[in-house]
Amino acid sequence: MLDVIKLLPDSVANQIAAGEVIQRPASAVKELMENALDAGATQIDLVVKDAGKALIMVIDNGCGMSETDARLCFERHATSKISKAEDLFSIRTMGFRGEALASIAAIAQVELKTRRKEDEVGVKIINEGSVVKDQTLIPMAPGTSFTVKNLFFNVPARRNFLKSPAAEMRHVVEEFTRVSLMNPEIGFTLTSDGKELYHLYPGNLKQRIMGLFGNSYDEKLLPVNQDTDSVCIHGYIMKAECAKKTRGEQYFFVNKRFIKHPYLHHAIENAFMEMIPQDSYPGYFLNIEVNPADIDVNIHPTKTEVNFLDVKLVYAILHAAVRKAIGQHNLSPMIDFDEPTNLNIDFGEVVKSTNPIIQPDIPIDPTYNPFHQKREFSNSSFGGFQSFEKKSDPGDWRLLYGERSDIQKDGGLAVQSEAESKSHYVQLNQTYIVTTVKSGLLIVDQHRAHYRILFEKFLKEMENNSGHSQQELFPQPMTLNVNDASLLHDMLPELQSVGFVLEQVNATTFVINGTPADLSGGDPVTLLEKMIDNYKINRSDLQLERKLGIAKTMASQLSVKAMTPLTDLEMQNMVDQLFGCTVAEVAPDGKKIYTIFTLEKITEQLNN
Ligand code: ADP
Ligand code: MG
Repeated sequence: MLDVIKLLPDSVANQIAAGEVIQRPASAVKELMENALDAGATQIDLVVKDAGKALIMVIDNGCGMSETDARLCFERHATSKISKAEDLFSIRTMGFRGEALASIAAIAQVELKTRRKEDEVGVKIINEGSVVKDQTLIPMAPGTSFTVKNLFFNVPARRNFLKSPAAEMRHVVEEFTRVSLMNPEIGFTLTSDGKELYHLYPGNLKQRIMGLFGNSYDEKLLPVNQDTDSVCIHGYIMKAECAKKTRGEQYFFVNKRFIKHPYLHHAIENAFMEMIPQDSYPGYFLNIEVNPADIDVNIHPTKTEVNFLDVKLVYAILHAAVRKAIGQHNLSPMIDFDEPTNLNIDFGEVVKSTNPIIQPDIPIDPTYNPFHQKREFSNSSFGGFQSFEKKSDPGDWRLLYGERSDIQKDGGLAVQSEAESKSHYVQLNQTYIVTTVKSGLLIVDQHRAHYRILFEKFLKEMENNSGHSQQELFPQPMTLNVNDASLLHDMLPELQSVGFVLEQVNATTFVINGTPADLSGGDPVTLLEKMIDNYKINRSDLQLERKLGIAKTMASQLSVKAMTPLTDLEMQNMVDQLFGCTVAEVAPDGKKIYTIFTLEKITEQLNN
């Protein structure tokens, strides 16, 4: 019997390898653009025809290649970027495998023109299916241009698998976006079938985002800047109110390399969690700079994955960075309260207004809490909110706001005058607060609003360690199983900061010596048990997440429920405090807090 094993010719081996690296026109676009970046170009132009199937051309003004390199670059494993195994751990370039050009040349007709600055002339090489067909010297400006024609001309199966031109073009634009986004100091253009789709001028990241996604992004972005010894995170997140129903602009980069990382994505979603509606996704454009030795990019040429040495640390830093960015920005919209002179004001526009927003200067007693008055909780439910005394004494009213002779009329949360206030708040079904605002009728879900208000209050208290505590007359013992007791132990510092005074007497028993002032009469044991339950589900080593969890449980348990009567004053305070919150749109569980029936809508309804 004869031996049967043969070594495949290079052209066939390259064609097989090409199947992995170049799956569609967009893959070639990515490789060619990344080569131009690695060549130090300051201007990169991409031209495609028929979504890249007929033609892909990438022109750069980078370092160019010598005549020898120009021939060599089409060989497999030919690269100028690494030379030894250790280099794999200090990769600063986009490419390093030396596979891309060999792959592209195996399945297309490629024309390369390149010239180094120091050379008088450039060289033109034509390579078809891995075979050099022509080589000539040509006059040209320094830089490199690759023209790739008839991709997959010799692999009909692959060509037939391509999607519609529109779908392939979407992939091309996506790759163009990923490459150009993180390199705002470089100019880019994209021309498709003779039409210039993008012309991106060198600038900063914000300008680049606007160039790619539209000028309206100017007002939608919040800067993220976090530098630590091991990780630096820079970029932008989209404001919570710009969250979209589809996973839209979510761009993660590591050392400017686009990656998909579900775990780190979770860090961002989590940071936004109690601020955006449940079915919406936050947008972000973030670059994580790490020491190349702390990551492994060497997974697969087309995979957008990166392994981190210490991914938990990156998660924690990323989470904190996003929280900080959100916290530094007051997300709450300004609603004009009932000033029915300008009926055309659009609520959306109010939010986006670029004019500096001036806080109305209203003297408020910060210690005043309407919900402290005459509130009784039943033991079974904390938010019992059972009895309210009607507060109509104007004396108290004045106490709350001091002398309010100069009521701010324009912008901001103008407070109603006394006479007006009486009739301005209506409770619907003991569940919704209804009031008028400039643009129409504002309807607020009382439970969700209070949930949000208390949530932010508890978070702040934990941050400042300023929770007020009420001493228990008769300290209550609380016995748990070992597991629950250790969970409660984990949470002790945070619980202390909102006003719990707990003492652990042995492995399973705690004594409750004091409770948060807001509890006023509620059963602390039930609340603590609820907290342990929630912590069990969302257990996290991150202190910040623990805080969020505790604030959420407490706020949801103590907030006023639906079907609870409220007085005018309580309603007004609720609305005022809501719009003083960082986020007024959604409750910590992602549910919408309020809606506005605009005058236009009402008029439309009435005329239908
Ligand atoms: P890799 O990028 O992984 O090194 P490629 O096959 O993409 O492999 O490219 C091979 C080599 O060709 C590169 O290492 C580089 O030296 C050279 N090269 C490719 N494109 C360009 C370019 N636009 N300008 C200058 N040199 C280039
Ligand atoms: Mg490359």
